[in-house]
Parts: sequence; C-alpha cells; structure tokens
Amino acid sequence: MTNRYDEKERRIHCAFSEKCGGCDYAGMKYDNELAVKQKYIEELFGEYVKVDDIVGMYRPIHYRNKVHAVVGLDDSRNVIAGTYEENSHRIVDTSDCMIEDSQCTDIIKDIKELIASFKYQPYDEDAGKGMIRHILLRKGFSTKEIMLVIVTAGVAFPSKNNFLKVLCEKHPKITTIVQNINDRRTSMVLGNRNIVLKGKGYIEDVLCGCRFRISPTSFYQINHQQTEKLYKKAIQLADISKNDTVIDAYCGIGTIGIVASKKAGKVIGVELNSEAVSDAKINASINNIKNVTFVNADAGDFLVEYAKNAKADVVIMDPPRSGSTPEFLNSLLKIKPDRIVYISCGPDTQARDIKVLIKGGYKVTACQPFDLFPHTEHVENVILLSRKA
Ligand code: SAH
Repeated sequence: MTNRYDEKERRIHCAFSEKCGGCDYAGMKYDNELAVKQKYIEELFGEYVKVDDIVGMYRPIHYRNKVHAVVGLDDSRNVIAGTYEENSHRIVDTSDCMIEDSQCTDIIKDIKELIASFKYQPYDEDAGKGMIRHILLRKGFSTKEIMLVIVTAGVAFPSKNNFLKVLCEKHPKITTIVQNINDRRTSMVLGNRNIVLKGKGYIEDVLCGCRFRISPTSFYQINHQQTEKLYKKAIQLADISKNDTVIDAYCGIGTIGIVASKKAGKVIGVELNSEAVSDAKINASINNIKNVTFVNADAGDFLVEYAKNAKADVVIMDPPRSGSTPEFLNSLLKIKPDRIVYISCGPDTQARDIKVLIKGGYKVTACQPFDLFPHTEHVENVILLSRKA
C-alpha cells in the first residue's frame, strides 16, 4: 500500500500507520472521526453546557508544520529516520507521511541519505554511542521559512561545511540550521546547547496578522490554519475591552497575548521556558505592542504571588497536556477574574481542572472543540468559564 488521500471521504490511507501509531484514525472517514471527537468532548462537558460543533479542517492533510524524526539503524545497518513505534523504542522509517508538511518530509529523506553517505553514525540509545540523534524541522506557514535542528550527541560534526553545502544546494529553502547538543542519556529530544550553523537561529511566522519569532525550543502550534480559528474564538469568548487586565498563562512565545493585546488595557504573559519568554518579548516589540509584559516563571508560582495583591479581569490559560495545578487554580479563585478562557490539548485534565473552578464559583458558559490534529486521537478544546452572579 502507498500513502494516499481520498478526497471524497477525506480519508487518509497510510502504509506506516499500524506501526507508527501517530494516526489512530488513519483509514476512517474524516466526518466519522469528527463525530467521535465531538462525542468525547460531549461526554466530558455536556453536563455543564451545550457543546458547539467541532471545527474540523477542510483538507485535513499535511498540516503539521513541525516534524521530528529519530535517526537510527535498521537490522541491516541502513540509516533510518522516523517516529518511534508505539510504546517502544524501535524506529519506524516513515519515508512518507500524510500529516506532515511534505517539504519537511522530503528534507528528512535527503538528510537520511546524506547521513549514510557522510558515514555519520546514528546515536545508539542502548550503547550511548554515535553522533546523530534527531532531526527537527519547523516551517513558517506564512513566511515559508524553514528551520532545521540537527541534534547531535556531542559537539563534533566532521565535514560539517561540506554536509551543509550539499544539503542547502538541494534545499535552498532551509533558512536557518541549528546544531543542538544533547549529550545526556535521556528520551528528551533537545539538549541545552545550540550552535547556529546557518542563518538567524530562528524562524518567523505570521499568525492572526502578527509576526512571531520562534526559537528551537519554544512551543509553537503545529497546525497554522486551525490555530487561527482557535485563537479567534478564544479571544472572542474572552470579550476583552480597553480597561481590562488580561493574564495569558502558559503563553509560549506570546501569541495569544499579543493578538489579544490590541483589545486590552494590559496583558501579562507567563511562561516557564526562558527561550520562549525571550521570543515573546521580542515578538511584542516586532509588533510594536507596548501594553504586554512577559514573566519567566512557573505559572502556578506566579499566580500565587499575583493573587496576593493584584486583580485581573480575564485569564486565558493554555497549559500543556498534563493540565494546570492546584496552586494555579486556587490562586485563580482568589483573583476572581470575570472570565476564564481555558484552552486545552488534553480535555481529560481540563475536565479535572474545571471541576475546581466550578466548585469555586464559576459556571461553564461555552465549549468549542477544534480539530488541530486530524487523524490522531488528540482534540483541542476551548471552555469559557464565567463567574456566577
Ligand atoms: N499559549 C501558547 C503555548 C501553549 S503550550 C500557544 O498557543 O502557542 C503550553 C506552554 O506552557 C508551553 O509553552 C510550555 O513551555 C508552557 N509551560 C509548561 N509548564 C509550565 C508551567 N508550569 N508554567 C508556565 N508555563 C508552562
């Protein structure tokens, strides 16, 4: 079987899906998948509010603008690159993917060949030996800028200039290349040290009319078209006006806060990843936004302090899949914002967290799921909580 897309049924067929495990709904009609996701959100939140219809994609393929491949050897010692087989550390050599950006897939294929021809050793996790660990690509949907991050086990990169020359001749659209050094025996992809080998060391993209710098370790939503719809809805639900103080918690590179700042009195963004916070500060200045400040802290720690003597009218929160923390939620109940917009890529933990907020005096007044990750089991969900009168 080869990978293909059935236009009529919006169904993908993927030769790798069984092993790769990335696309749980490969082979299913897209409308059926959306129905499954809708039901899942209704089961979680239907008791509180009428769940709006999930917003799907018109053409749900090649939407991932961030692509990650693990590099290794197969049993015949050929270089392979792809994802880990589900629940294992065996690599599936995904030479074609229905959800990744095709240009990124092509670049990875060529890098794989170059690794073999330059005789670079893929890193062997068990032995803790070898050179190349991962390849990471990010593409700006609007700008078409591409960032390549090559994760190596050490600083050594023999014949580096030659390797880069051959690669960039083949793929002149790669605007920046970063070598990331991960010398630890860990399943974490990225290490702490970056060496810029080409270009600026970051890419930029335009989202909701604003320009954003994205550095290698910063979070950036992987589905551009759907993210624009998601942010628009979240900001609409937040119903921000010129006198409002807005907190953008778990703000990444400041995207939501910066887009929302045009309507707000002031916005405070809080984020744990220092590289993302640096990006966020630069992003405010690129967009000439003066009413936003960004704080590098654990969102819970920050809110505990903030709740002691400051107020906020609106809190937009977008935590990672594991959800928020009791410290954060309890502080939120002290701050008593009029509206809380809770964006989540993990609706189970979102459901757990909003129980705390409901108990503390809020009611769920809107629920809108978005399909940011077609063909996978993941669902993004936006909930509006308003303070009970
Ligand atoms: N709102 C952003 C980022 C959402 S992803 C966007 O839409 O792009 C979640 C973010 O939370 C990531 O940037 C991650 O680094 C950050 N994060 C994770 N744990 C955190 C914590 N304890 N405190 C603050 N930020 C955290």
